Amino acid sequence: MQGNDLMDYLDGVAVVDLEATSLNTRKGAIASVGMVTFRDGELKRYYRVFRPFRGAKIDKSALAVCGFTLNELNRKCDCKDGEDNCKVLEHAHSPERVCSYVSEFMHENQCHTIAGQNPAFDTGYLHAYFERYKRFDFISHRTIDLHSIGYGHLASRGMKVPVDHARDGKVSYVRNDFSATKLYRLIGMPTEPKPHNALTGALFEFEAFCRLIYKKPVLEEFKMYKLRTEIL
Ligand SMILES: [Zn+2]
Repeated sequence: MQGNDLMDYLDGVAVVDLEATSLNTRKGAIASVGMVTFRDGELKRYYRVFRPFRGAKIDKSALAVCGFTLNELNRKCDCKDGEDNCKVLEHAHSPERVCSYVSEFMHENQCHTIAGQNPAFDTGYLHAYFERYKRFDFISHRTIDLHSIGYGHLASRGMKVPVDHARDGKVSYVRNDFSATKLYRLIGMPTEPKPHNALTGALFEFEAFCRLIYKKPVLEEFKMYKLRTEIL
């Protein structure tokens, strides 16, 4: 990692990406959580798969995005000492543990803010889980949105935001289509591999924040992708 002296802006910021069984954050279940944060000169990483809670909304289209089958999501951890000492990254843990794991990661790394691409989705899910399992919800409603920062850069260069259309009968609605993929292309990053992985997603988002804020590549994983500067 380069430019460690410049990481102060992202100190205490947890970039969180989660995959879920539905776009509905109140009814769907979290399938996996990826988190990264910069702390003590290194990038701390977290990844875990979770079983859906009973009665969760499961949409085939959402499963297609993250590539999990329902069988995989329901595959219980059978490690000798249980989930506390799980050694297998693919083992799905109890949905109730989402709250403890996220809390522990954020507490250990003194994270005060969640960041990501459209973080309302990720924090919406987390707030719903804290409420569902009656856990102390310390997560701030203040978030840092990669899309907003990218939008600011587009605007400062006088570039138009990409749009598409959604049709309802005779009415065509215009919609923001400035996706993460389009942002990554503008700053020289590759397309995120499919199916999506929550930790890979968080790493992509972290690198994009760094490129937009510090105007240079930061993570080893992305060093071979030369920075493009037309919106920087
Ligand atoms: Zn296990």
